[in-house]
Amino acid sequence: MNGLPIARRPSDVRVVEVAAKSALNRVSHMGFRWSLNPYTGCAHQCVFCYARGTHAYRDLDGVREWGSALGVKVNIASVLRAELARPSWRPEEIAIGTATDPYQALEGRYRLMRGILAALRDARAPFHITTRSPLIVRDLDLLAACARRADVGVAVSIATLDEALAREIEPTVAPPRQRLRAVRALADAGIRVAVAVAPILPDITDAPDALAAVVLAAAGAGASHVWHGALNLGTVTRDAYFAFLSESRPQLVERYVRLFARGRYVEPAYVREVDDRIRAARRDVTFGRYRPPVRDRSGTQVPLL
Ligand code: SF4
Repeated sequence: MNGLPIARRPSDVRVVEVAAKSALNRVSHMGFRWSLNPYTGCAHQCVFCYARGTHAYRDLDGVREWGSALGVKVNIASVLRAELARPSWRPEEIAIGTATDPYQALEGRYRLMRGILAALRDARAPFHITTRSPLIVRDLDLLAACARRADVGVAVSIATLDEALAREIEPTVAPPRQRLRAVRALADAGIRVAVAVAPILPDITDAPDALAAVVLAAAGAGASHVWHGALNLGTVTRDAYFAFLSESRPQLVERYVRLFARGRYVEPAYVREVDDRIRAARRDVTFGRYRPPVRDRSGTQVPLL
């Protein structure tokens, strides 16, 4: 038990098909200009999910109902294709999966990502995908085709290699070992793939040897690099996360209150400490050497002789 309601049975989950008016969302103050999310909500129900706050836009409770109400943007591929065909479109990086996992279980049925990837391929649009799901390997063919025409990156999130702990904090996500196999498959298909060690949970996933194990496993699976991220406790996420802590690790509640005394972001001193741990973990590791495709002036990949 992690202290939060888990909607595991299909009958617990409401799925609503919606017609999206737009596919691309303008983003500011981030490292990318556009985001795209094929679903609203996410079935994975991670205790730390920063997207829980998005439930408020739908008058839903992001603590108790997260994972139990999912929206499927059934027309998103055709809307995206139309947006990418506009004369005003400039090829700026699109971040896919900023508020949902685009490869959550529903994607097995709806296959929205295949239409999205085909549209991105045809428009030569650069993008990166963040996911916790090995289902992404279903689309290796399209991802490889996209990577031949534009800059493409995938980040597979793995916060811990401890399977019991992963089940606790990411209750419906595939085990870390399966995610590493997906990293290997992506790397072997010539797709630049990173492991996102994120979010790092203070006193839960942040032990130096545990972080080093994830970094080492990522390199062993062919990742080109790792990146890490701190826990972000926005309003709704804070309530969910403290419910999890109170139930499973009450002894840590006071520590977290101190660490997050300034609001949603953790103390800078803690961030520096974790940065040092990841830096140390990277030091002795050799990552997979990703060689970006060479392209001609039209953007088409030139075969290396
Ligand atoms: S996979 Fe991502 S979007 Fe889905 S619940 Fe987990 S953190 Fe949130």
